[in-house]
Amino acid sequence: MKIRVGFGFDVHPLESGKDLWLGGLKLPAAKGAVGHSDADVLIHAICDALLGAANLGDIGTHFVNTDARWAGKESSYFLGEVTRMVLAKGWTIENVDCTVTLEMPKLKPHIPAMKRILAPLMNISEDDISIKATTNEKLGYVGRTEGLNAYAVALIARKG
Ligand code: MG
Repeated sequence: MKIRVGFGFDVHPLESGKDLWLGGLKLPAAKGAVGHSDADVLIHAICDALLGAANLGDIGTHFVNTDARWAGKESSYFLGEVTRMVLAKGWTIENVDCTVTLEMPKLKPHIPAMKRILAPLMNISEDDISIKATTNEKLGYVGRTEGLNAYAVALIARKG
């Protein structure tokens, strides 16, 4: 059995009047994330962790952020495609562990729903997905609610 780990990071700015998509869910929030797609930092970080583990480049390689096809695109589509690419190389996804840093809203009540959305996209069980959240203790751009971050690690495995 060969195993590999991958790491992903993403950041997007926050602005009033925008939607906040996180983990495939649209959350009630005073500010939303700005980006070419739906700016779902959590899914983008997971995509990069999976692509990194399989040595398949990064999300920007496959979904260029100047391509009109991806304008406003739901990031769940990207995760489904990334999973397809990883599985096509003979890997299975074992687990992902993620942390989102943002000041508001509180994510904890929404995490079970995010897991329900993300699990089938990666062909894994909800128990194989960990999503954690922390504020940035009011420090820096996250603390000033100018942006949010997501970090993810993914483990993949295959025979041989
Ligand atoms: Mg992104």
